[in-house]
Amino acid sequence: MKDKQIEKLIKAEEERQEKTISLIASENYVSDDVLTALGSKFTNKYSEGYPGKRYYKGQTFTDEVENLCQERALKLFKLSPEKWSVNVQPLSGSPANLAVYVALVPLGEKVMGMSLDHGGHLTHGHKVSVTGKFWHQIPYGVNKDTEVIDYDEIKKIALEEKPKMIIAGYTAYPRIVDFKKFREIADDNNAILMVDMSHFAGLVAGEAYPSPFEYADIVTTTTHKTLRGPRSALIFARKDKTQTSAKGNEVSFADLIDKAVFPGLQGGPHMNQIAAVAVALKEADTPEFKKYAEQVIKNAHTLTDELKKLGWKIISGGTDSHLILVDTFMGGEGMSGAEASDKLEKEGIIVNKNTIPNETRSPMDPSGIRLGTAGETTRGAKEKDMVNLAKRIDEALRK
Ligand SMILES: *Cc1c(COP(=O)(O)O)cnc(C)c1O
Repeated sequence: MKDKQIEKLIKAEEERQEKTISLIASENYVSDDVLTALGSKFTNKYSEGYPGKRYYKGQTFTDEVENLCQERALKLFKLSPEKWSVNVQPLSGSPANLAVYVALVPLGEKVMGMSLDHGGHLTHGHKVSVTGKFWHQIPYGVNKDTEVIDYDEIKKIALEEKPKMIIAGYTAYPRIVDFKKFREIADDNNAILMVDMSHFAGLVAGEAYPSPFEYADIVTTTTHKTLRGPRSALIFARKDKTQTSAKGNEVSFADLIDKAVFPGLQGGPHMNQIAAVAVALKEADTPEFKKYAEQVIKNAHTLTDELKKLGWKIISGGTDSHLILVDTFMGGEGMSGAEASDKLEKEGIIVNKNTIPNETRSPMDPSGIRLGTAGETTRGAKEKDMVNLAKRIDEALRK
């Protein structure tokens, strides 16, 4: 590179990644092929619009790349193109979720999402996100004692509040979500069911976690977490779902979402990113990826069991995914999540501090840390490595 300053920083970051262990549940390590596509000359091309309907000329290959990305996304999640459409243009997870709101939920309407401190994402209607400023969040959480989702409670809230849309799928919830129950609750209230599978999409792809597609109207996902692609997002919409427009026409969710993404919220899509997503989707459609997904969960189970043996409190008592929430504060006996994450970073283990359900401290200095096994599994870690890792974590925290 001619730019020595940036070259030095890229090298330094590469070394940092090599030398540390990332247990950040939303991170992963992409393949060299994904990086090649990301760094390709598709970045030079403006392609506002959709395949076959672009504003600028010169779209022969961008159209092919976007069509291929869509085909691969549908195939990976076993969806028929007759029944499902997918938009591959959202720039990342938050804009993808915003596009769904813009497409389907009138301003000011009620959206039911898990509150942030129980594991929901900011874009599920939290008040610091525009989704909480322009729409009205009806929060739900986990049961105080079991720390898992209480479907009867959600059912009760939905019946009282009659939200326009219900969101399932979270940022810091380790357990399996019962999508069928969410479908029943949505049906009882004539609400749209959106599943945000950002965290566990790779586990669904690898058949190691239940697929939400049988039950959801809309599925959004980031592509850079367990799915192991570049930073981007996808929005899937069931083709038979429609909404009545102001003019009285029936318009499909899929068309409304396409319009919300472009021209509603974005200009030109990032075609280099879409090419890289296509590469990642193909990689995820292999027996090796299935093995990876299974190993991610085995590793999470081992890490959880070992940490429990060493005396650490695991929220909800365990995990069914890549994600583990540890209560490091333990009602004052232990340390805050900020202190815990600082101690771990000193030992080369990178995690994030995290709120726990019914948080008693502040989001900037909460009671827990969140761990995830996807990244280390990509790097080849197995159960025995998790036993060692648990020991290292325990030692670092007790220093
Ligand atoms: C990560 C995440 C997002 C947001 O993705 P960004 O790419 O960071 O904008 C949205 N929803 C959930 C559930 C997530 O975990």
